[in-house]
Amino acid sequence: MKCTVCRKPAIVKFPAHNSAFCEEHLDAFFMRQVAKTIEKYKMLPPKGRVVVAISGGKDSLVTTFVLKRLGYEVLGFFIDLGIEENNFSSQSREVVESFCKENDIPLEIVNLKEKFGKGIPDVAKRQDRICAICGVTKRHLMNEYTLSVKADALATGHTLDDMAKLLLANLFRWDLHHLSKGTPVLPEESGFARKIKPLAFQAEEEIIAFAKLHNIKPVTAVCPYSREAKYTRYQEALDMLEEKSPGIKRSFYKNYTKYAHLFAGTSARPPKITCELCGFPSVSPVCTFCRTWVKSSQ
Ligand code: SF4
Ligand code: ZN
Ligand code: ZN
Repeated sequence: MKCTVCRKPAIVKFPAHNSAFCEEHLDAFFMRQVAKTIEKYKMLPPKGRVVVAISGGKDSLVTTFVLKRLGYEVLGFFIDLGIEENNFSSQSREVVESFCKENDIPLEIVNLKEKFGKGIPDVAKRQDRICAICGVTKRHLMNEYTLSVKADALATGHTLDDMAKLLLANLFRWDLHHLSKGTPVLPEESGFARKIKPLAFQAEEEIIAFAKLHNIKPVTAVCPYSREAKYTRYQEALDMLEEKSPGIKRSFYKNYTKYAHLFAGTSARPPKITCELCGFPSVSPVCTFCRTWVKSSQ
């Protein structure tokens, strides 16, 4: 197998792109692809300030690494969820701290136990609600921090696989609200920071190869609640289709981004009001975040 660009021996093959690359051209390919996504969707102004939500997983580490290399002012943000099983939170924190130190990235850490006296496992009364509560908590804190440092955007490590499987799941349910929100950029609106997903067109195998090339080592501990993961069956269906028709995942998601605007305004969600405690947009007088973390500890 030879590199499509220079004909030297290739180290990876990406059937979806009908290409194979040596180390040098894998690096150039990946960087160019992400830069193109940022440019096409006008994610950030040149040298803009961006907060990256870093979990310690490969996707958020690679997002941080690439944004820094592309010359943006990157601020890392990590939430210590207080999940002790499997040493998940402590290991994730160590990985993120040493990665940010090595790459000269300022890091803000919010420790739920220090801030609210309890962690994620303490607040979910029902085991099957834990990921939903964790999601609400992360979204609230990431948004609050991004607005507080006046960053141009909040970046997350969502990948092509994440975006495509969410799209498929939302289509199966005809969830119009979420179908209007699956784009690589969500513009800023009152109370919400601009959200960007620079890896929205990078597939799992491309991210793995790039992380390996740069010796980016993600956390190995697994969150004990990850078995609750909801979208595995959609991922399996997409993987099966991708194997038969390389590139189908990318075109499925890419074509959606052309038509996503058709879903805007179709949601029948109740109008937003402002949370009495935190002042952020909410659908009830006290938002879910404040009901979970603030009110119950008063
Ligand atoms: Fe949070 Fe669930 Fe992810 Fe664990 S698996 S970090 S509980 S969202
Ligand atoms: Zn090459
Ligand atoms: Zn609130």
